[in-house]
Amino acid sequence: MIRPLAAIATILSLALPAGAEPLANQLFGAMPSPSAQRSEPVGFYSRGCGAGMVQLPETGPTWQAMRLSRNRNWGQPEMITFLEQLSVAATKLGWRGLYIGDISQPRGGPMTSGHASHQIGLDADVWMLPPSSLTLSRAQRESISSISIRTADQRSVNSNWTPQHQALLQSAAMDDRVDRIFVAAAVKIRMCQTATAADTPWLQKIRPIAGHNTHFHIRLKCPAGSRNCTPQTPTVNELSKGGNGCDETLSWWVTDYLNPQSAPAGPAVPASPSPRTFTMADLPAQCTDVLRAR
Ligand SMILES: [Zn+2]
Repeated sequence: MIRPLAAIATILSLALPAGAEPLANQLFGAMPSPSAQRSEPVGFYSRGCGAGMVQLPETGPTWQAMRLSRNRNWGQPEMITFLEQLSVAATKLGWRGLYIGDISQPRGGPMTSGHASHQIGLDADVWMLPPSSLTLSRAQRESISSISIRTADQRSVNSNWTPQHQALLQSAAMDDRVDRIFVAAAVKIRMCQTATAADTPWLQKIRPIAGHNTHFHIRLKCPAGSRNCTPQTPTVNELSKGGNGCDETLSWWVTDYLNPQSAPAGPAVPASPSPRTFTMADLPAQCTDVLRAR
């Protein structure tokens, strides 16, 4: 009997020029279910895959997973637990819970659209839109949109931003499981305006990045004992040496990134190949096992 995966690989290779390898995002994107393996993140957030991933239930008492057609509500058990707990924390702030966006594909890996990261089940997007209902249908979860919390010039938050957003982000950042949280620069700017020294330990985890005005992106640390997970270095702690990130890094976002007339160069970011071009040879060898496992 031909295994489904072998069939997919054969089909893909037939469609490719001689010698070309199938793309990893096509292979992982075709997998409808997780691997029957011990749960483990494999590789790096933007170059890896996830063994034994767990599904965030489509609807829970304090959350709904959005855009179910994408089948990206899969993550490491640590991430699923974290999100469920964060959605409970949201209710303490007066929200009904959370709308959860993309986590990972059933076996992680590179995606055919969107995110460079989200590959190992330790990244998740949370919508800025406070839930109006937690009984949305599948169809409603495809059509409803989140809200943007920043102004058109990107320099400040707009009237959609609330103290609850700030408290939710603080609650997430104070959690030791969290490595960093990506937000629009306007959010970091706002949080820095009211920061005191006591806020430094968690505020440094809030990182400005392009986009991220309709959702924030939570990245968890490699769970203890996950030997094949590659931690992000430098970690936020090492990078900022005890600072809160409200100084040099943020001023670059304000003066350069948000000002197209200024010098184009920002902080040096080493050029890296797009995960969309990865073949299996670009991923850790264990990802081939993840792909082949039942
Ligand atoms: Zn994300």
